[in-house]
Amino acid sequence: MSGHKLGIMKSLKALSPIKITAIYMLVGGLWILLSDRLLVAFVRDPEVLTHMQTLKGWIYVAVTAVLLYLLISYNTMVIRHSEQAMRESEERYRQTVENSPNPIFSVDREGVIQSWNKACENIFQYSRKEVIGAKYHMLLNPEERRTIEGMLNQVFEEKRSFSNVEISYRCRDGTERFMVSRLYPLLDYEGWVKACVFANTDVTERKRAEEELKRAYEKLQRAHEELKTLDEMKSNIIANVSHELRTPITIAKGAIELVMDEKDQKKRKELLKIALNALLRQNFIVEDLLQAARLERGEMKLEKVDMANLINRVTEEFRPMLMKNNIQMEKNVEEGLFATADPNQIEHVLRNLITNAIKFNKPGGSVIIEAQKRGDMVEVCVSDTGIGIPEDQQEKIFERFYQVDSSPSRRYGGTGMGLAIVKEIVEAHGGKVTVESRPGEGSRFCFTVPAARWEE
Ligand code: ADP
Repeated sequence: MSGHKLGIMKSLKALSPIKITAIYMLVGGLWILLSDRLLVAFVRDPEVLTHMQTLKGWIYVAVTAVLLYLLISYNTMVIRHSEQAMRESEERYRQTVENSPNPIFSVDREGVIQSWNKACENIFQYSRKEVIGAKYHMLLNPEERRTIEGMLNQVFEEKRSFSNVEISYRCRDGTERFMVSRLYPLLDYEGWVKACVFANTDVTERKRAEEELKRAYEKLQRAHEELKTLDEMKSNIIANVSHELRTPITIAKGAIELVMDEKDQKKRKELLKIALNALLRQNFIVEDLLQAARLERGEMKLEKVDMANLINRVTEEFRPMLMKNNIQMEKNVEEGLFATADPNQIEHVLRNLITNAIKFNKPGGSVIIEAQKRGDMVEVCVSDTGIGIPEDQQEKIFERFYQVDSSPSRRYGGTGMGLAIVKEIVEAHGGKVTVESRPGEGSRFCFTVPAARWEE
């Protein structure tokens, strides 16, 4: 059919029964009216008139029969054509849906799947055969069912459409796909809603990329915050370390200057002792810094260590400091306790813990050192009756450079490196450091190192 004809056909409409009846009556009425007048006007002979009347009846039947035939043929042609046009448009729609890269399916009033395109097969991994006739619930997460069901009701009851609905679908292999969907009614010839179409756009990759971006951004923000804190800490550390290194130099320098002018041997000796102690303190800080560097390089020499011996050696060094601070020391060490460890590093650990136990103690307080075997490990504990550590800081004190009080006006000296190094050394040996503390009452630090086996 040519385009022009097709255009005309499209504009034609089937006649309703009322119109057909009206045309029929009009033509029939006109025929009766005109034929009677014509007969009366032209035929004078009454006999001929009677014959003509009968003929007129037959012609009436023939004319109205032709008229009815034409009207019915016309209607049939128009209806057939509009059905074909409808079929063609349905086929076009079907093919567009079928070949769409987006997953599109439709469901009936009961939620039973009616159509399922190729993209649906690819993405949801269910073949058309498997899903047609099944409920669309199988594709939804249980939490989303209620919302979608509400929308579906409105599509069927009110012919409403919904755009930009975010739905997370579940595929056959259990993976989740995020889609932005449009729900709209599909009408039949008479305008009834025969199905609800779900036209989905798969945005899973975009959503994942967005989430990843969000996570990366949050990570970046956290890193930025950490850097900011580290920067603040760095300023404090530099100030503290410089202060800690300068104090002994000032003390030693002052003491030596006084020695030069001092004649009294006893006083000179005392001054030199002060200078020596200051230098020892400085040496301790430098040792801490060096130990940190050594740990970073992973240097460790393991041997069988007599723990009672090691503890005696280290505690002996603290005698002057204990006396000066008026602090008692108690020892409770199991005999025959051997560990597999690097003795220099374990001495360093012990020295750090005892220094803190004295430094953060109260005058007249006490320090208790205990050592015993615990399964395959040797446990050493240093307890004090000092100021204690607030609970929320008990984990943080093991971080490098962390100090409960790191203000420039703080009461206790130190670099905040000691416990971080203690933790690193102990963990490098395969042990653990723990702390129990009550502010105002004291602290107890314990560490473990592997016990030596008898054959070692
Ligand atoms: P430093 O003693 O050089 O400041 P540490 O790493 O040895 O560094 O200790 C970190 C912080 O932990 C100290 O500044 C202090 O606030 C707290 N701390 C450590 N040991 C004790 C203790 N025995 N009693 C109270 N507080 C302690």
